Amino acid sequence: METSNVAHVFLLALLTAVATGLGALPFLFTKNLTRGWLGTSDALASGLMLAASFSLLYEGIAYGLWRALLGVILGLGFIVLTRTLIQQDEHPAVFASMGRFDARKALLVVGIMTLHSFTEGVAIGVSFGGGQAFGLFISLALAVHNIPEGLAISLTLVPRGVGWVRAALWSIFSSLPQPLMAVPAFLFVELFNPLLPIGLGFAGGAMIWMVFSELVPDALEKASANLVAIVVTLAVVAMVAFQFLIR
Ligand SMILES: [Zn+2]
Repeated sequence: METSNVAHVFLLALLTAVATGLGALPFLFTKNLTRGWLGTSDALASGLMLAASFSLLYEGIAYGLWRALLGVILGLGFIVLTRTLIQQDEHPAVFASMGRFDARKALLVVGIMTLHSFTEGVAIGVSFGGGQAFGLFISLALAVHNIPEGLAISLTLVPRGVGWVRAALWSIFSSLPQPLMAVPAFLFVELFNPLLPIGLGFAGGAMIWMVFSELVPDALEKASANLVAIVVTLAVVAMVAFQFLIR
């Protein structure tokens, strides 16, 4: 492999990570969110993440049904275990400025989004193994796909007192595994390719769990079931349409 190729893969994957930060930009304009808006934000994040998790599953299944399903079971087991451990942790240092309960939720959201980026980094690297043009296409698609994911992260962080700049930085952080994983996956395509459906299933399973365990119950505490359902429905449809359009 040429060094220039490796640098090329890294830079493009880094670009996809930076794009995630764009999702925080709407919060330049709104600072103080009321309780009703907080519920709406959670509902919006739920819908965006729910649709994103299904596209991860379909993508994984396209590579291999049983490995993707194995990934889902592993992801579900991992996240249930992790949640039990985080609950025992009194003050996760990184989110110390927030209340204990909200810090746990923020940590879960950023954690799961970061986790799913590992697989997307592998996807970028593997796709460059299939040629420059294909790799470029997958990178650009992922960069655009990362923007609503940054929005979903910001929608859970900003209403809980995190400034928009920090929300943007956490969003970018959540995508840093993309450049980090793209390079080894590009160099060792043969090794990483079989793991891709497991990783995609893992991320999809963990993300669906998070939506129903954390975000939807939170939304229902602050907004009516009717409003939450309307916002989730519209967000799912918007994300599905968006992912169809960038394909
Ligand atoms: Zn994603």
